[in-house]
Amino acid sequence: MSNSQGKKVNSKENLNKPSLNFIENIIEEDLKNHKNEGRIHTRFPPEPNGYLHIGHAKSICFNFGLAEKYNGMCNLRFDDTNPVKEEVEYVDSIIEDIKWLGFDWEDRLFYASDYFDQLYKWAIKLIKDGKAYIDDQTSEQISEQRKTPTKPGIESPFRNRPVEENLDLFERMHAGEFEDGAKVLRAKIDMSSPNMHMRDPAIYRIKHASHHRTGNKWCIYPMYDFTHGQSDYLEGITHSICTLEFEVHRPLYDWFLDNLIEGKYRPRQIEFARLNLSYTVMSKRKLLELVEEGYVSGWDDPRLPTISGLRRRGYTPESIRNFSERIGVAKRDNVIDVALLEHSIRNDLNKKVNRILAVLNPLKLVILNYPENKTEELDAINNPEDENAGKRKIPFSRVLYIEKDDFMEDPPRKFFRLAPEREVRLRYGYIIKCVDVVKDKNGKIIEVHCTYDPETKSGSGKSDKKVKGTIHWVSVEHALDAEVRLYDRLFVNENPDKAEEGKDFKSNINPESLKIINCKVEPSLKDVKPEEKYQFERQGYFCVDKESTPDKLIFNRTVPLRDSWAKRNK
Ligand code: ATP
Ligand code: MG
Repeated sequence: MSNSQGKKVNSKENLNKPSLNFIENIIEEDLKNHKNEGRIHTRFPPEPNGYLHIGHAKSICFNFGLAEKYNGMCNLRFDDTNPVKEEVEYVDSIIEDIKWLGFDWEDRLFYASDYFDQLYKWAIKLIKDGKAYIDDQTSEQISEQRKTPTKPGIESPFRNRPVEENLDLFERMHAGEFEDGAKVLRAKIDMSSPNMHMRDPAIYRIKHASHHRTGNKWCIYPMYDFTHGQSDYLEGITHSICTLEFEVHRPLYDWFLDNLIEGKYRPRQIEFARLNLSYTVMSKRKLLELVEEGYVSGWDDPRLPTISGLRRRGYTPESIRNFSERIGVAKRDNVIDVALLEHSIRNDLNKKVNRILAVLNPLKLVILNYPENKTEELDAINNPEDENAGKRKIPFSRVLYIEKDDFMEDPPRKFFRLAPEREVRLRYGYIIKCVDVVKDKNGKIIEVHCTYDPETKSGSGKSDKKVKGTIHWVSVEHALDAEVRLYDRLFVNENPDKAEEGKDFKSNINPESLKIINCKVEPSLKDVKPEEKYQFERQGYFCVDKESTPDKLIFNRTVPLRDSWAKRNK
C-alpha cells in the first residue's frame, strides 16, 4: 500500500511487527547510545525460600527473552542473603523449573553469597568514608525514630560515632562478639528524606545462623538492598529488571553504586508490574501456608500456580512462554484472567496431543444384535490437527461403556445423544438405536439396550445414513481402569484475598477443587508414562500423573475442552 508520495505505509510487514514494550524501548535507546559498550545483560534473581510460580515464570521469560532478542546474556543468581528461610531443596527446584521452561544460563549460575567477602569490604569502605555507622539501638527504637514519610525522622544517638570506633565495632560484630540484634550497621544518608528507604537503612545485621552455602563462616549478613545492586555490578548486569514494589528502593540502589563504584559502566534498575492472576494467590508466604497446613498435597499440587504444579497438571513450557509473551509487560499493576492461561494450554495441546476415548462416568450399553464373542478393531484417528500423528486400532465388542450423560430416558427435543427409539453414531463405529433400558429395583438405569446397523460402519462407505449425534465409548471387555483427578480453581473468589472480617484468604478455598473418580479408558493407554498428555475426546486434556503405574493409571485433568475465555471474547 502506498500513499500519494509513494511512501510505504502500513505495509503488512509493519503491521505484523509487534510494538516494543517500555523496557525494550529503553534497551533500544541504550543500544543506540552505545551505553555500557552496547552490551545487554539481564539476570533472574530468585530468593530460594519457596518454589517458583507463574509470576516468576513471567520474569524468567522476560529476562531470558530480552537476552535472546538483543543477543545478550542472562544470569541466574540466587539471592541468598537470609540464611534462616532458605533451603537447598528450593535451590534445586528452581534450577529444575527454569531448565524445564527451556532457558539456559550456561556457566553463569551465581549466588549473592559468592559476594559476601566483597560486600564486607564495601561496608568497610562506607564506614571509612563516614557513610555508615554502627547503631546499638534495638530494631524497635530504630523504626520508631524513622517516623512517617510526612514527618522527619530522628537521628540516632550513635550516628556520629567516630570512624575508628565504627570500624572496631564492625570487626567485632564480624568476629561474633555480639548477640543477634545487638547492633546493626546503617548507611548514613538522610533521616528527613521523604523516601523512608533513605532514612539510614540497615545494611548489615547480626545473625548467628548457618547458611546453605557459606556454612558458619559468617554471623553477619548483608541486607537485600545492600546486596542486590552491587551483585548486579559484579556480574556486569546492564538492565536489572524487577517488580514495582522496588521502585521506592531505586534511589538506594543508586546511592550505593554512587558511593562504591567507579568507571563508566553501571547497572540500571527498571521496574515492571508483577503478574497477578484471578482466582490465584501468588505470594510465596501464602503458598507455603497452603503446603504446610495441608490444604494441598505439596508444592507441586496441580492446583497451585507453582511451575511444578502447572507441570504436573499438564501445562507445557511452550504454553507458559506463550502466555507470558501474550500478557506483555506493563507499568501498572493489573490482574490477568486465569482463563487466559487455560486458553494458552488448550491452544498448545490441541495441535500436539493424541485423542483417545475414555468414559468418565460409565453406563453399560449392550448391542443386542452384535455377535457375543466378536471383537473388531476399528480405525481411530490420533490427531485430526496433525497429519503425521497417524491412526490406531481400538477394540469394539457387544458390551460397551458410554457416558451416563449421553443417555436420557426422557430427553428434551434438542438432545442429540441417545434416548429410547433414537439413534446416534458410536465414534469410529456404527449407528445404533436404543430399544430398551434395564433398571435396578430403585428405578435407576443400569443398562441401555440397542441394536446396530452393520452397514453404517465409519469409513466403510456402504451407507450414507446420517445422524445428529456422535458419542464416545469403550469396550467393557477391553477397557482399562483409571483414576481421574478433576481439578477446579483452588479459590471460589476472583480475588482470594478479599475475605470476610477476621478471616483470611484460606476462607475462600474451593471445597470442590479436587474430585477423584474412577473411569474406563481405551486399552492403548496401557503403557503410558508420567507427564504424557492426551485429549480425552469430548472431555478435555489430561496428563499422566507422576504417581501413575501400569497397575494403577492416574490422570490429572489439565483443563476441560470448553474454552470459556475464547467465547467471552468473540
Ligand atoms: P513473592 O512475592 O511471590 O513471594 P518474591 O518477589 O519475593 O515473590 P523472589 O524470589 O524475590 O520472589 O523473585 C524473583 C524475581 O521474580 C524477582 O525479580 C521478582 O521481582 C520476580 N517476581 C516475583 N513475583 C513476580 C510476579 N508475580 N510477577 C512477575 N515477576 C515476579
Ligand atoms: Mg523478593
